[in-house]
Amino acid sequence: MLPLICLAIHSTNHILHSPIEYLKGVGPLRADLLKKELSIYTFADLLEHFPHRHIDKTKINRIADITPNFEYVQVVGKLMFIDVVGEGRGKRLVAQLKDASGLLELAWFQGISWVQKNLIIGEAYLVFGKISFFSGKPQIVHPEIEVFTPASADTKSYLEPVYPATEKLKARGLNGRQLGKITQTLVAQIQPKDILENLPNSILNELNLMGRYDAFCNVHFPTSLQVYERAVYRLKFEELFIAQVRLNLIRIQRHKNSRGVLFEKVGDLFNIFYNQYLPFQLTGAQKRVLKEIRQDTAKGYQMNRLLQGDVGSGKTIVALLSMLLAADNGYQSCLMAPTEILAQQHFNGLSSLLKDMPIRIEILTGSTKTKKRRAILNDLQAGELQLIVGTHALIEDVVQFKNLGFVVVDEQHRFGVAQRAKLWQKATIPPHILVMTATPIPRTLAMTAYGDLDYSVMDELPPGRQPITTVHRFEQKRASVMEFIRSEIALGRQAYIIYPLIEESEKLSYEDLMQGYEQVKSYFPEPKYRISMVHGKQPAEQKETNMQRFVSGDTNIMVSTTVIEVGVNVPNASVMVIESSEKFGLSQLHQLRGRVGRGSEKSFCILLTGNKLSREAKERLQIMCATNDGFKIAEKDLELRGPGDIEGTRQSGALNFKLASIVNDKELLELAKVKAESLLELDVDLALPDNARLKLFLQSQKGKTGWSKIS
Ligand code: ADP
Ligand code: MG
Repeated sequence: MLPLICLAIHSTNHILHSPIEYLKGVGPLRADLLKKELSIYTFADLLEHFPHRHIDKTKINRIADITPNFEYVQVVGKLMFIDVVGEGRGKRLVAQLKDASGLLELAWFQGISWVQKNLIIGEAYLVFGKISFFSGKPQIVHPEIEVFTPASADTKSYLEPVYPATEKLKARGLNGRQLGKITQTLVAQIQPKDILENLPNSILNELNLMGRYDAFCNVHFPTSLQVYERAVYRLKFEELFIAQVRLNLIRIQRHKNSRGVLFEKVGDLFNIFYNQYLPFQLTGAQKRVLKEIRQDTAKGYQMNRLLQGDVGSGKTIVALLSMLLAADNGYQSCLMAPTEILAQQHFNGLSSLLKDMPIRIEILTGSTKTKKRRAILNDLQAGELQLIVGTHALIEDVVQFKNLGFVVVDEQHRFGVAQRAKLWQKATIPPHILVMTATPIPRTLAMTAYGDLDYSVMDELPPGRQPITTVHRFEQKRASVMEFIRSEIALGRQAYIIYPLIEESEKLSYEDLMQGYEQVKSYFPEPKYRISMVHGKQPAEQKETNMQRFVSGDTNIMVSTTVIEVGVNVPNASVMVIESSEKFGLSQLHQLRGRVGRGSEKSFCILLTGNKLSREAKERLQIMCATNDGFKIAEKDLELRGPGDIEGTRQSGALNFKLASIVNDKELLELAKVKAESLLELDVDLALPDNARLKLFLQSQKGKTGWSKIS
């Protein structure tokens, strides 16, 4: 994680650098625990171990008032009884606490002997914890408990911080509130000079932010909730703002340093195609993105653009027009797809669009025959071939271009960084790169994870699309689902049935697929019906043939694993059945669903599941039925899973915020972004006096920032 605190400039004997064992009340034993359990090594680490809540000491619940509606309670009472009950896994320590109104049970499953040793019958305790009801009686499992001392006159605040702690820490006498005590000792020692301001006055004033030192003190020991909230706001803003400044600087720096091929003009190829062969009007979003690409490529730096567009938003045509722009300027282009099937589809689609244009396009994949391959390689090197579509085969060293100027990578999450780097090396000046992905990433995530890239969004679908109707059906309804497929086939349509072969190598799910296939065959007997099957274990050729039979309409049903997930385009297919859909993630479900609704007919997606569904699975199914909007789905996905797990995002330090959350602090993130951008627009070198401390702060974080390259 990134440290928030700027360990003030250059001095290694800064108080915040002090090893944690030197803090009064810690000592070597507790220090060891803090290191092991919470990675707290220094004073700074402790200061950045933020409380997760504050106890309002003035609020004590009466035991008799506690109902199942309570979540957390705070009780003061006398310990009446304590003993170990049960055996083996059921062994636990049970205690009873009594106040004037009733009895509350406390229970521990871990650290039993330590807890028992330290609690004294007859003593008054302050107890806090999550309430549960056990045979009608209130109970707290693993409560926070300490000897009750009435709030004394010297207590500054009625709010007492409670910190995240592990069970082990709690068992060794360092619970969430005791951590507060050592933190109090620390905060008392820190002075304003130890925590220097790092934000410019202009921003502090404009946003009315609390000063940095005050914020660190008040986040721990606020005098009121309002003060606490202001402190948190300041620290979250700082965290997000610093990250945005850093990402923006990286991008600006890349633009400044990277030489890129220059597309000076829009020429005949682009214009003729645009005016004569473009089969439809571009959407506003397509036009905007094209303009962004056009501007980038006319600047002389290397474009590294991520294009995010929902399934079916029409990214291919943007890629094609960009490649024509490259050709107009005398440069070659390539388009890479993650699978052979997709490469072939792109090739077919593009060739037919370009059939009357004076431009040559070829395809190169693992299965291109030797003779053909030789000719293609030859023509690429000679510059006689302007456009090439392919798979990984394109990055092999034998593939040499005369002057590669533009690279399109479709569905980037299947392409590694190293593979892209190989492409770069195919030209003396690195080609422009357009990475296209149909796995929408929530804007907040994109802003943090991809903030250093040039980034475009196509958030508009071509007109006239019929929204796909999505429903959830339990397994028992299979027969009627199959009946529905039959009725669609009778109308001349086609259907997909997808099995959750998530790991293509998993033997078990492979067997599931085979069983599923047999079952589908029993519902749809030959010769009346014809079925294709595609899965990852088939040889490429067989896969290709089966796929082609479906594409050409020769088969009615495609039984498949998720290999068909991305990009495949069969406009006549109007039904998508996803088996065991509770096993899929949201983005995958959305991708799969995107295989239908590509033609003019009304399309349907049926999510089949077993009867037992987790709460999260239910939510996934609900959102799928409720919307077709990939960005909304991505937001929900982020909410359900958290940023670390979202497919297609890089592990990025920028995501590991200590306080801020890209799920809950969207508006603050937007604000931080705007402020970072406008600050750098005015003063990219941070040369203004007001920005000096920001510069100093970033420099003190050198190594993580790329900032070192700048000054
Ligand atoms: P994706 O963004 O998922 O790759 P495609 O580029 O495959 O989408 O486009 C999906 C379909 O929409 C294609 O059949 C394409 O021809 C069509 N299409 C793209 N742009 C437009 C547009 N502006 N108007 C109408 N149809 C369009
Ligand atoms: Mg596509």
